[in-house]
Amino acid sequence: MENDSSYHSNSSITCLMFDTRALCVVCGAPAIGRNFDAYTCLSCKAFFRRNAYNDQVRFTCRSSSSCEITTLTRRHCSACRLNKCFRQGMKKELIRSLVAIKQATSGAIIRRSHRESQSPLLTTINHVVIDDQSVLSLDDWNLLSNIQNAYEEYCVEPFLASHERISLIVTTQPYRTRIKLQRLIDLIKKYYLIVVSFIKHVLEFDPSTEHDYIYIQNNLRALSLLNVSELMKCNILKHAPWEYDRCLFELVLTEDILQRFEQHLHIYQTTSPHDAVIIKLFLISLAFSSRIYPIFGKDQYHSMDFYPFPQQLVSAQNYYITLLWKYVIYRLGIHNAIIYSARFIQHFLRQQMLDADVLNIINNRDDHGQLVALIRSELSDN
Ligand SMILES: [Zn+2]
Ligand SMILES: [Zn+2]
Repeated sequence: MENDSSYHSNSSITCLMFDTRALCVVCGAPAIGRNFDAYTCLSCKAFFRRNAYNDQVRFTCRSSSSCEITTLTRRHCSACRLNKCFRQGMKKELIRSLVAIKQATSGAIIRRSHRESQSPLLTTINHVVIDDQSVLSLDDWNLLSNIQNAYEEYCVEPFLASHERISLIVTTQPYRTRIKLQRLIDLIKKYYLIVVSFIKHVLEFDPSTEHDYIYIQNNLRALSLLNVSELMKCNILKHAPWEYDRCLFELVLTEDILQRFEQHLHIYQTTSPHDAVIIKLFLISLAFSSRIYPIFGKDQYHSMDFYPFPQQLVSAQNYYITLLWKYVIYRLGIHNAIIYSARFIQHFLRQQMLDADVLNIINNRDDHGQLVALIRSELSDN
């Protein structure tokens, strides 16, 4: 990593960081990190997690069991791809089960003893933190690892899967405006749902039984924009270039707003550290906020926007903010941690102002709020 000599280079967190130059040992795509003991891309990581425990006889090679695996051919032969995963040193014992993630995550708020948390399923992170000098406990490391996994499983993978289903050709065809608007709504929904899915899983919220979910739900729209910034920063949106989405947003937004948004993304990319964990902790901490709201003029707020906030959610937020702070200090040192956090808050407030201007534009369209109503109804069930 360039430009980050101020970061700690302790190897104990390599499993949580991107080396942006590394390539996947299976297919050669840009790697997202060390997964199951080998540097791989997200696609191969997901492939391995889905298939490593399935009996290998399920896949059969239609050729001579020596298919070349590249980014272009990796989908053609699952048998050879899985063989290559094992050959390159990926270990299926390191796959953390969904049950393990849930157990460790639910322990987040009520902290468990060290002994209890040393589950054999979490050995990767356990063995590397033995010489860790930071204030992060073993519980903390387990939780960080689980958050990272939940993000990939519930946010990134569904995003990539849904993206593969949408043909890019659609946006280049001269479709009628109504159809394009629906595409825009689908896109907004896609970005929203992945954040919803991540937050629900990592915090184990079941909206049908948890009354408190309503408080969190109101914050998720603002978080989806923050999450887009993050997806664009790492390698994940490489196959979903912004240009395709931009022409859909051009239908409803002004060039000025779009340029501000692009500038905003640029600032985010250049000022936030190459770290896969920090932003997830921000997302979770912000989800527990007493209502994130776009920064409008004073007269545009409603008194209902400031309802009382349950104490247990404030306590949960405290827990995650403490974890966030400990982790940021560990990664950046106290001085840079303060600078970075101030920058992040500034970035987030700017985003809220941008969001308010976007809402003003779509609220004042000729359709008298129909688009807003449509977006709301599409998102409201989640
Ligand atoms: Zn790969
Ligand atoms: Zn093959």
